[in-house]
Formats: sequence, structure tokens, C-alpha cells
Amino acid sequence: MSEQAFVREVGLRDGLQNIARFVPTNVKIAWIEAEHAAGVREIEVASLVPPKLIPQFIDAEEVIRFALSQPGLTVAVLIPNLKGAERAIALGAHKMNYVLSVSEAHNRANVRRTTADSVADFKRVLVARDAVAPARRPKAVCGLATAFGCTIQGHVDEDTVRRIAAEVAEAGADELTIADTVGYAGPKAVSRVFRAVLAEVGNIPVAAHFHDTRGLGLANVSAALDAGVRTFDASLAGLGGCPYAPGASGNIVTEDLAFLLESMGFATGVDFAKLIEVRDIVHRAVPEAALLGNLPKAGLPKNFTPTSLVA
Ligand code: ZN
Repeated sequence: MSEQAFVREVGLRDGLQNIARFVPTNVKIAWIEAEHAAGVREIEVASLVPPKLIPQFIDAEEVIRFALSQPGLTVAVLIPNLKGAERAIALGAHKMNYVLSVSEAHNRANVRRTTADSVADFKRVLVARDAVAPARRPKAVCGLATAFGCTIQGHVDEDTVRRIAAEVAEAGADELTIADTVGYAGPKAVSRVFRAVLAEVGNIPVAAHFHDTRGLGLANVSAALDAGVRTFDASLAGLGGCPYAPGASGNIVTEDLAFLLESMGFATGVDFAKLIEVRDIVHRAVPEAALLGNLPKAGLPKNFTPTSLVA
């Protein structure tokens, strides 16, 4: 048996939140359905921010309800605060992805409070989670954004990442996601930070969220794999871009991530032909967005057998 690695689609949240045009609900639903059919087993389908802040997510509840109808799909939603957690719980989402910034300056700019206040807010989310009956209880994931640097304050202390990871894990987080929100990470920093965090909180899953802003996204995945990470966020066709760097690419590309993992001997369960077809849905919805990704343009090598097919 080959070892498994997990591809988590975040394009419907991280990608679409950077797209001004409203993508119709039926297109979001078609995207989720097609990517689920292509073998992706976890999708962050929406953000439960107040719709006034990001109108793209005004249909979040309908999208979440549809996603919950897909057998075997883990339905994750981003929550900005306790109110978001309450909405996620009421809808029956499987995972609540809370995000705080390790960078104090970024956290203040984003949610107007200190990182410590956000940690305290996440603890209130954990209390809300624990009040849910076990059969319906969602997982509470804490995302540590700007873990490798920040567009406002620049440097972010690596030991602060480890310390916050330890604190939220100790408080009861089900999982962590360490995020290079602005594309500042390189393989050496990735190796140091993930090894330190995994040594600290090795009993819960720790995922990696990389942006390819400066072209190091897949190199960072490789470094994180070596450090022991097995779960990675990515966006189909790299949809989204970077709000801090106009014209720059956003999340790593789902198709290229799956190819890297399968070529390194990890089974992802992804069907490449079906996954690449999903790009048509995204293109029809957002024709002005560049469809990124190298594998979809070049095709699979003739001498390549996906690990998932031999596992
Ligand atoms: Zn991101």
C-alpha cells in the first residue's frame, strides 16, 4: 500500500474571495460536484463572513447545503469569529476553519484585534463546538496565517508560530493549518517551521497552505512533505491571485499539487482527466481570470502511472 496524501480544494473560498465578479450559485455547485467526482474529498466551500463584507459569499448557506449532499465529501467553511462558528454549526458543516494571523500587524488590519485576542476568540469557538452533540459536532481547525512573513510588518518570528500552535492545540483544536498567506516562504523556512510545530503538536493533523506568489509553492510542498506534512490546500487553476500583489498568482494549483504528490509516490485518489475538466467550469464562470497550472497545459507524461492507480 502506498502512503496517502490529501489535497484540499480552497478555490471556492480563497480563490473566489479575490474575484469581484459574483459567481452564480449554480456554477459554484457544479464546481463542487465535478471536483468531488474527480476524487477530491475535502473542499472549503465558502466563507461565513458577513455578506456585506464579501458579497461573493452571500449564497454560502445554499452552497454548503449542496456540498453536504455529496457522499464522502468533507465540507469545510471559513469562519471569521464565533458568530461564523454558530452559523457553521447550525448548517451542519463538517469543519470550521478559523483563521488568525501570527503577524500582529496583519491581524489588526484584518480583524482589528491583537493575535492574543484572536486566540481567545478561537477558544470561544471551541466552547461552541463542545456544546454540539458528538454525532453532529464539527471539527475546529485553527489556521495560522502569515506564518512565514507579512506584507505589513515583514518579519514574523518562527518561534511565535510554534508557541501559538502549541497554545491552540492545548486548548483543543482538532487540526492546524500553517499558512504562507502572502507567498514569502521558502523551503528552508518551511522545513524549520513545520518540524518545530509537528514536534510540538504531533498528535493532531497539521496541514500546509501555500501561495505560489513567487514561484516557490511546490518547492515548499516538497519541503513540508519531508517534514512530515501530508495535507495541502490548493486552488483549481490557481484561481484567486494575491490581494497584496496585483497580477501575482495565488494559491498553489490543485492539478499541479496532485501531480507532484502522485509522482512522489503518494496516493491522492484524484482522477487527473476529470480534475482537468473542472477547469472549463471555472473558465466559464470567470473568463477574465487566467487559468494557471503546468500539468493541464502539458498533459501527463507518457511514462507516468499515478500512484493512486497502483496503490
Ligand atoms: Zn490563502
